Amino acid sequence: MTKKEIETAEQIKRAVKDIKALRPAYEGILAFYEKLFLAQEASKKHIHMQPIKIPEDLLSVKRKEKFPLIARKDFTVDIKASEALLREICQLACEANEVLAHAGVKLMDALDRGTVDASTLLSKTLSEDDVYFDETAKSLEIDKEVLFFMAHGSIRPCLSLCAEQLATYIGKDTLWGKGYCPVCGNPPAISILRGEGERFFFCSFCDHEWHSQRIYCPFCENKDQKTLHYFFSEEEEYRVNVCDKCKRYIKTIDTREIERPVYPFLEQIATLHLDMLAQNQGLQSGHPLWLQT
Ligand SMILES: [Zn+2]
Ligand SMILES: [Zn+2]
Repeated sequence: MTKKEIETAEQIKRAVKDIKALRPAYEGILAFYEKLFLAQEASKKHIHMQPIKIPEDLLSVKRKEKFPLIARKDFTVDIKASEALLREICQLACEANEVLAHAGVKLMDALDRGTVDASTLLSKTLSEDDVYFDETAKSLEIDKEVLFFMAHGSIRPCLSLCAEQLATYIGKDTLWGKGYCPVCGNPPAISILRGEGERFFFCSFCDHEWHSQRIYCPFCENKDQKTLHYFFSEEEEYRVNVCDKCKRYIKTIDTREIERPVYPFLEQIATLHLDMLAQNQGLQSGHPLWLQT
């Protein structure tokens, strides 16, 4: 039976509980991510944003040329709700591992003192201002990837709601046929198989889900069956899709093999052992691994 992506708090909790029982080694890291995902879901009800409108003439060009609907910088963010979530993420980080705890303390302190302005940090996350992240991480003496992870985590509910709204411009089951997100142009974080084996990708930036052809590398558009393959670990519910052409991989969840509710971004965290296996084979992840801090 096909399981739908889950959204509600109860479903996240159930999925975490089931995964912890299956793979106790993940207990520590999932304790943090469970709270993070719940905080992100809960934050959605405090978000107020105007819909993003795309004029019909621009829309028809984008459809024809297969351009994403918007660029990262064009997302709308509710600064008040996102700043509140950023502070909550700092608190959650303080209870997590050493690297996150260090970053949580430093960032919270900087927000309190006003040496880091939340609104600037969040807008720089949208505009991918690498220089800003370099300098801010250096001044806080924290890891740049961790800083980005926390900042992106705090705007993620806004991005996800924007993507949901923008998805109304895209046909729901339309085969997009590209490896980048039709909403924002970013690479997928993970893919899932459903139903008769249809494949869907999930955007690493805005969470948007899109339908893809089954035999396909989203990173170099390779469709050649001979150079695309996958391997399993011990669990048949996950596979790692590998492209021999670009030497990149993406993890895939086969929802047909899973009874529990599936929350793709949780599965992404609960399969870090597969990233290690893939990277030990000299393969590269096709998207930034900040999610897996
Ligand atoms: Zn996207
Ligand atoms: Zn490839």
